[in-house]
Amino acid sequence: MNLFAQRMSQLQGEGAYKVLAQANALEAEGRSIVHLEIGQPNFPTPKHISEAAFHAISQGKTGYTASQGTPALRQAISEYCLQHKKVHTNANEVVVAPGAKPIIFYSMLALIEPGDEVIVPNPGFPTYASCVHFCGGTVKDLILSSENQFDPDPDQLLSLLSPKTKLVILNNPNNPTGRRTSNATMLRITELIRDYSDAYVLSDEIYDRLVFEQKEEVFSPATVPGMKERTILLDGFSKTYAMTGWRLGYGVMNPILAEAFARLMVNSNGCTAAFTQDAGVAALHGPQAEVEHMKHEFAERSVWLAEQLNQMKGVQCVIPNAAFYVFPRVTATGIDSGVLADRILNEAGVACLDGGSFGSYGKGYLRMSTANSMENLQIAAQRLAAFFEKC
Ligand code: PMP
Repeated sequence: MNLFAQRMSQLQGEGAYKVLAQANALEAEGRSIVHLEIGQPNFPTPKHISEAAFHAISQGKTGYTASQGTPALRQAISEYCLQHKKVHTNANEVVVAPGAKPIIFYSMLALIEPGDEVIVPNPGFPTYASCVHFCGGTVKDLILSSENQFDPDPDQLLSLLSPKTKLVILNNPNNPTGRRTSNATMLRITELIRDYSDAYVLSDEIYDRLVFEQKEEVFSPATVPGMKERTILLDGFSKTYAMTGWRLGYGVMNPILAEAFARLMVNSNGCTAAFTQDAGVAALHGPQAEVEHMKHEFAERSVWLAEQLNQMKGVQCVIPNAAFYVFPRVTATGIDSGVLADRILNEAGVACLDGGSFGSYGKGYLRMSTANSMENLQIAAQRLAAFFEKC
């Protein structure tokens, strides 16, 4: 008898955690490593948010809550969605979860059966394809390429849409590319999905507060006429409020889906921690100055690092305009990006990720997180320049 169910072979790990473990092992041997592998803000959670959690605990808020989330947090999220994303919703349509990731998983568990097709950005956040495969679905690649500034191409999307398309995943701004696509292109894409399929959209908007120059309004596909009912809006607190370890995220979806997602919550997590949810209310209602500060820092660092990379031999980098990643193309070195990432870690002491760990179309790129101090980024840039000069 097999130990594991067959579906377990479909579930992948995440490159970032693997490289972090390798980098930590090298550090334990006394090597100096600059960490550019992990995608989490290197800022503390704003104090007023932590204090709200301390207060909740001191008030005895340590028990179960409603699986779907506390009424106070769901209300705060629905108000936030209206104010920030222009999405009209109400507390019944909000499902709170321990992180944004469970909402990705639940989307597949609730919707995807063998034979269903899911359009997934490639390169893209690895959990998407992994969860689709786990549920027996077929992944169709929405290609993001540096030649197109990593914008999805509406014509290519149209060619992928079929009666079998059950879900389209959009992630704007995008991990791993650090790019935000314009509202005009996102609108076109959403309209194509609406007009040429019955598919749902999973709109991962987790980086939508980290747009460097706010030239346009925030765009959510849920605002496009006819698409509110078909959109699962995904967002969370990890990136915007430097709360990765708190585990707090949410989905906004039609009430029928919300009921199903709440049942998935009952059967998996039960609920999200009560005091964490109080912290979430404080994050949304409290001062937003630290979010702005982090955004400016990420902007400065990402643009700076991309410009440095562009001066290095064999490296070309699209200048990022959001999130905290740079995604340089390294095909001109003639070396496989997986081999390069390994060599950069071992020979240059800089931990970064093979773009191939974000999908086949990520091959030939490296992902570097700029969630590190400018001082460390300068050290990394010096080491990388020396490495690429001789590699
Ligand atoms: N979506 C994207 C695009 C992400 O980059 C991440 C985190 N790296 C998540 C979702 C998951 O966020 P959380 O930590 O809140 O589960």
